[in-house]
Amino acid sequence: MTEDMYSVKPLPAFTDNYIWLLETSDGRCAVVDPGEAGPVLAELDSRNLKLEAILLTHHHRDHTGGVADILARFPVPVYGSADSKVSSINHFLRDGEHIRILDTEFRILAIPGHTLDHIAFYSEAPVPRLFCGDTLFAGGCGRLFEGTPEQMYRSLEKLAGLPDATEVYCAHEYTLSNLRFALSLEPENPLLQERLAQCEDLRSRQQPTLPSRMDLERATNPFLRCHEAPLQDAAKRSGASANSVVDVFAQIRRLKDNF
Ligand code: ZN
Ligand code: FE
Repeated sequence: MTEDMYSVKPLPAFTDNYIWLLETSDGRCAVVDPGEAGPVLAELDSRNLKLEAILLTHHHRDHTGGVADILARFPVPVYGSADSKVSSINHFLRDGEHIRILDTEFRILAIPGHTLDHIAFYSEAPVPRLFCGDTLFAGGCGRLFEGTPEQMYRSLEKLAGLPDATEVYCAHEYTLSNLRFALSLEPENPLLQERLAQCEDLRSRQQPTLPSRMDLERATNPFLRCHEAPLQDAAKRSGASANSVVDVFAQIRRLKDNF
């Protein structure tokens, strides 16, 4: 096994989605959440890459809409949750299972909340990397379309337990609005001020703010810090009971929905 098993490149899609392209040095690749086929097919064709797999984190169209057109050209396995109703999935995954893609082992983490079928893909080599769709965002988290606050909070806790150096590949470029919301709760937080300035600089140069890192998320993402006093105070100030950490999470998520 080589050290450098795969590298990662963003393929921007729609207005703020990223389709993640995983590729080996010998020109094999996989894609995560191809919401549209165009950017994927253009990349495969122009660089003569050999597609080996499609990975899906959840059923939303902006993550799956390109699958049929990609399969029409490249009939590759489609990996997704065993709980998903996406008809193109032909490899059904459950929490804790391992799959081998591009000579690399990926662990499947069930992370319901944004949707009930949501999963993440985690690999340890060459560096820990997490492909987490619309569950954990840089500085934020996904909306609760299907799950309860309790489910989403447990899912985020599960992700927060991954190693500090884990690179976090989310499916959307939502970082600036997430950090502005986070600062509305804690205007004086210097880590947040610094992170927002760095991300504004990246965006002003049309650079992605991703991947993030798990230690940075644990330090600055309000949804991973619901047990900390500043977030508990913010939830209480806005009128929530905030008796439990899940109450705090639910209130902060509600505030973000209306931000
Ligand atoms: Zn989604
Ligand atoms: Fe999405």
